[in-house]
Amino acid sequence: MGNLRTALLAWLFARSTGRDFLLRVEDLDTGRTADGAEARQLADLAALGLHWDGDVVRQSSRTDLYEAALGRLDVYECYCTRREILAAPSAPHAPDGAYPGTCRNLTEGEREARRRNRPAAVRLRSTVSSFTVTDLLHGEYTGTVDDVVLRRGDGTYAYNLAVVVDDAAQGVDQVVRGDDLLSSAPRQAYLTSLLGGTPPTYAHVPMVLGPSGIRLAKRDGAVTLAERGGPAVVLPEIAASLGLRGRTPHEMLDGFDPARLPRNPWTLPL
Ligand SMILES: [Zn+2]
Repeated sequence: MGNLRTALLAWLFARSTGRDFLLRVEDLDTGRTADGAEARQLADLAALGLHWDGDVVRQSSRTDLYEAALGRLDVYECYCTRREILAAPSAPHAPDGAYPGTCRNLTEGEREARRRNRPAAVRLRSTVSSFTVTDLLHGEYTGTVDDVVLRRGDGTYAYNLAVVVDDAAQGVDQVVRGDDLLSSAPRQAYLTSLLGGTPPTYAHVPMVLGPSGIRLAKRDGAVTLAERGGPAVVLPEIAASLGLRGRTPHEMLDGFDPARLPRNPWTLPL
């Protein structure tokens, strides 16, 4: 329900401004063999009438693009484990959770020695500590930028790099997604600017919560399109939660105004 509600909003933002609605499968972690979840999600979108323009793009088939982008950025290898990063004293003025820069200035000899123990992640050598993005619901939002991981030790390209490369390649100028990703938008916009692009405008929309007050999950009960009774039940339910009228996405376009969207999470009645 959370993904479907966000997808409906993304479709409304796109269609109400004459934009295409693009569909990208972000499967760098799951790989191509994920258990039918992707096919189910695409079928759900189509059943709701959220039709997309062009072909579905899959990140798992685009690693050449990510590798090329990595080659254009100022980066360094990092050999830290998660535990070492948490245990390290944070750098002066660095916000909590920011990478403390342990591996930033190692000598080639030190790198050589560490490489033997552990496969290296690749981090951006950031020259800023914060960056500001424009969000249609949150206004100007300034957030932390640290030496973000661009490729993990296991060779997987990081989401933060992949979305930036894909948005640029697909001509995405507006990103609509859940507001759990608001705090990562400044990093992504900064990366975009480093790669010579213009950061998109964002609309980070409120999440759907389960009865426990945290992000909705499978364990919460009837949370999928099928479980809740299909489009005829779900579309009016989502529309009401957004203060929109209409039984189809096209009908909801009439009078769609981002300024009037709710700013708080929606707790799904179960
Ligand atoms: Zn490190």
